[in-house]
Amino acid sequence: MKVLVINCGSSSLKYQLIDTDTEEVFVSGLCERIGIDGRLVYKPANGEKRIFDDPLPDHKVGVKNVLDAITNPEYGVIKSLDEIDAIGHRVLHCGEAYSCSVVIDDEVIKNIEGANDLGPLHNPANLIGIAACQALMPEKPQVAVFDTAFHQTMPKKAAIYALPYEYYTKHRVRRYGFHGTSHSYVSKRTIDVAGLDKNNSKVIVCHLGNGASVSAVLNGKSVDTSMGLTPLEGLVMGTRSGDIDPAIVQFIMKKENLNIDEMLNVLNKKSGVFGVSGVSSDFRDLEAAANEGNERAQLAREMFAYRVVKYIGAYTAAMNGVDAITFTAGVGENDGKIRKAIMDNFGYLGIKIDDEKNSLRGKEVVISTPDSKVKVLVIPTNEELAIAQETVELVKNL
Ligand code: ADP
Repeated sequence: MKVLVINCGSSSLKYQLIDTDTEEVFVSGLCERIGIDGRLVYKPANGEKRIFDDPLPDHKVGVKNVLDAITNPEYGVIKSLDEIDAIGHRVLHCGEAYSCSVVIDDEVIKNIEGANDLGPLHNPANLIGIAACQALMPEKPQVAVFDTAFHQTMPKKAAIYALPYEYYTKHRVRRYGFHGTSHSYVSKRTIDVAGLDKNNSKVIVCHLGNGASVSAVLNGKSVDTSMGLTPLEGLVMGTRSGDIDPAIVQFIMKKENLNIDEMLNVLNKKSGVFGVSGVSSDFRDLEAAANEGNERAQLAREMFAYRVVKYIGAYTAAMNGVDAITFTAGVGENDGKIRKAIMDNFGYLGIKIDDEKNSLRGKEVVISTPDSKVKVLVIPTNEELAIAQETVELVKNL
């Protein structure tokens, strides 16, 4: 089936057209600066990249221009829109409404709206993208694939914060977790590649990108994850602090004379390995700086790895063991040194890393030795393909 995958931000719209049978990506690209001026980037797999500067006053015009481009007689990738079987939308948040992807109808839209306060930057934009596609392709089935849904299987003891309980019942303050599409896809691939029995499997997925999170996946279901009510909790990230003592917030606000929005901006955009190193949020830059003797860049890398070690240790304990640990996303797929630094702490679990395999990049590979007691893998994440596959699962029998 051919699925158009849409990921809408407040002023952007990323798209891919994917054949789920062959996993071929016909075209990918994005609309940028929607509502400002407009820029459409169009990258067909078998043709040259094009950039169009037509105005994009709103997302509907963005979707229309994408559809026009992919069906263009000269440089399009399909002859007509009839060839598109369904549309899969990446949607940030569904609150507690769903634990899986769903075919979009009026009730689903109401539930996404109902989670707007939990995802104030993304959910309204996701809804705009859905409305634009519905207006232009009313007869096509549309599916919402939620970033939070995979983690809805977490038990309450993992999801509820030790705050007054009415904050949960009144305001829905709890751990939701994010990167769900990636954790779901990568944990499934891990079970297949490592040859595990899904119903008797303990997997830890380390999604280490600019945003980063770890999940504990027991028998195919998420039972804990490091991001919380928002993506700020958990690991040290590119620019996010991850876990800190919450009292630091008031302490720094007073010392630096910041208001709460400024403080949250510091925690989200100026912290993490960027804040510690003062160099960059990009691990390639940090490695280069550390190699030149920059101690803070080295410290940032060590802190990043140490936090991952702590989460893996915690989730191994939470599941009473672990069969496989998988690395994914930009850092997890590419930075063998970070992977090694993390895994060096797990000799006590009987983990042994094959240095040659660990030096490979961007491939599905088992990087542990055959006699390692726990399998360690690298599985490149592919959120767009996962969204397309989930979409097909839901629409194939409609
Ligand atoms: P996100 O989707 O959260 O923006 P990605 O998963 O694309 O992030 O990861 C981006 C990060 O991956 C970059 O900021 C960089 O730190 C890291 N990265 C990408 N390529 C490499 C590489 N070859 N070596 C080390 N780190 C890399």
